[in-house]
Amino acid sequence: MPMRNSYSREDTPEPDSVQPTGVLSVRNLGRTYVNNGASLRVLHDVNLDIGSGETCAIVGPSGSGKSTLLGLCAGLDDPDSGSVLLGGHDLSKLTLDERAALRGKLVGFVFQSFQLLPTLTAEENVLVPLELQGMGNGSRQAARALLEQVGLGERFRHYPAQLSGGEQQRVALARAFVHRPRILFADEPTGNLDADTSRPIVEMLFNLNREAGTSLVLVTHDPELAQRAGRVVRMRGGTIVSQEMPDGQ
Ligand code: ADP
Repeated sequence: MPMRNSYSREDTPEPDSVQPTGVLSVRNLGRTYVNNGASLRVLHDVNLDIGSGETCAIVGPSGSGKSTLLGLCAGLDDPDSGSVLLGGHDLSKLTLDERAALRGKLVGFVFQSFQLLPTLTAEENVLVPLELQGMGNGSRQAARALLEQVGLGERFRHYPAQLSGGEQQRVALARAFVHRPRILFADEPTGNLDADTSRPIVEMLFNLNREAGTSLVLVTHDPELAQRAGRVVRMRGGTIVSQEMPDGQ
């Protein structure tokens, strides 16, 4: 495995003294992009709390700030104003290494375009988050067990190019869950898949959420996926305009 990294679980700081009840707490979040001297405010006044094991779909028109919000929540980007508390840690108070270590421990991320490493097999891709944490014993078994769970038990030696889009996204799901993150962010996880391929991916996502107790925050245009979430957060013009519980939740 080529992926090694200098930080470890020990780098993860203690949570801030004031602990929120949820796994994610976002307050008054704002983000403005500046390009060629022109500034574009893409997110403003966003407040969001996600509880342990909760499932939440973020919906809204293209350009409304959904992906920007997801990136800020996962600590992949920095806000201009407001705060993000992840597992009780204020991201703005962490060094880059501490933040990376926290992400490695608490966060899983699934991308629309799968983003598997092309030179690694399915199993090696799933092992990446465990390697980053320096976890040795039992890693391979954990990776294989998850690949079995997503129906790819026979394909663990295949490279991404040898797998279909749906199969690659299943590998990406296994990779996102293998380190038992407290919260999983998914940006249009079925966006590149047809309806027949999407359905099992949605099932797997919610099965893994139920079994591992991982909170899910999903950006989606897929009504079927949004309806499966316990809460639907609607964005427009860079802010949250409504939060609903779909029928039967
Ligand atoms: P959504 O996910 O709802 O489609 P995004 O969060 O991707 O929306 O984008 C929100 C707005 O921010 C869009 O107008 C987009 O063009 C703009 N945007 C996103 N990333 C950048 C960037 N790096 N530089 C400038 N503008 C950006």
